[in-house]
Amino acid sequence: MILEQQRQPLQPAELPEPVPGLGQVQIEVRTCGVCRTDLHILDGDLARPKLPLVMGHQIVGVVRAAGDGAERFAPGDRVGVPWLGWTCGECRYCRSGRENLCDRAKFTGYDLDGGYAEVAVADERFCFPIPSSMSDLGAAPLLCAGLIGYRALRLVGEAERIGFYGFGAAAHILCQVAVHEGRRVFAFTREGDTETQAFARQLGAEWAGGSEEAPPEQLDGAIVFAPVGALMTAALRASAKGARIISAGIHMSDIPSFPYAELWGERLLGSVANLTRRDGEEFVALAPRVPVRTEVEVYPLGAANEALDDLRAGRLRGAAVLSVAASGS
Ligand SMILES: [Zn+2]
Ligand SMILES: [Zn+2]
Repeated sequence: MILEQQRQPLQPAELPEPVPGLGQVQIEVRTCGVCRTDLHILDGDLARPKLPLVMGHQIVGVVRAAGDGAERFAPGDRVGVPWLGWTCGECRYCRSGRENLCDRAKFTGYDLDGGYAEVAVADERFCFPIPSSMSDLGAAPLLCAGLIGYRALRLVGEAERIGFYGFGAAAHILCQVAVHEGRRVFAFTREGDTETQAFARQLGAEWAGGSEEAPPEQLDGAIVFAPVGALMTAALRASAKGARIISAGIHMSDIPSFPYAELWGERLLGSVANLTRRDGEEFVALAPRVPVRTEVEVYPLGAANEALDDLRAGRLRGAAVLSVAASGS
C-alpha cells in the first residue's frame, strides 16, 4: 500500500521486490502495526516523507535473505523492525548513547520504506529478535506504541500515581507495565468515552474519566499520548509538586499558555523522541515478564486506509494491526 501524496488515501500497488543492500536483511512481513505517526505522515503534519512511500514502522516478519555483510540473523528468524531505522554513529548524540536524537537518523516508514507491504528490507542492526512467546499480531504494537511508551515511562521517573492522557495503543500497553511496576494508574479519555474508560479499569487503572476531569488524587507524573497540546496543561493542573509531564507523540497542537504558578514546585514538562536500540532490547525482554497482552483490531493489508480512518476517529480498542501473512494468533 503506497503513499503517493500526503492527504491522499494509500493506493494498492505491485512493486519490484526490495533487494537487501549492505548490512540489510530481506523480511517477509507477517504483520505491521498502525501508529498515530502514520496518520501524521498521511495528513501532512510531518512535512518531509520520502515519496512515494511504504508506511509502517511496527513490522513483524521472518528473515528470508541477507545482503552483503549481514550475518546477525539466519533465514527463518522472526524479527521486529521499529521506527528507528538507521543512525550515523558519528554525531554528538550517537556518540553519547542518545541515538534517538541522531541528526541524520532515518526512520522506517518515513525516510525508508516500511511494512505496509508483503516484503521489506531493514538494516539488521536495528532489528530485534521477537521472543517465541509473542504472536505475530500481539508483537506488532509493542514495536512503537510499547517501545516509545516505555521510553516515556522511564522519563516520567518513579511516579507512583501516573496519569495517561489518551488511552489507545500505547497506553493500553503501558498501563499493564505500570501496574506490574506497582504504580497506580489514572486513565484520561475523550469526554464521555465510557467504553474506553471501562477498558482502562479492566487493565488495572484504578480510576478512569474524561481528560478535563480532576482525578481523585494529584498525579506524580503523566504521559500525554493524544496529540492535543491542551492536555499538557490539563495534566499539569492535575499534578503534584515534582511531577513530570511527558508528551510521547511526534506531533502535537500548540500548548496553551498558563500561569507560572502551575509549573512552580519543580514540575517539569518534556517530550520523548524516537527510541534507542537499548530501549528496544529492554522492552522486548520486559514485555513477556509482565506479561503484556495486547488487544488488537486486525485488518488485511488492503484495508490499511480503513485502519487509519478508525484510528483517526477513535473507533479502536487497543491497537490496529495489518495482517499480511500472520501465522497463529
Ligand atoms: Zn548520529
Ligand atoms: Zn509509531
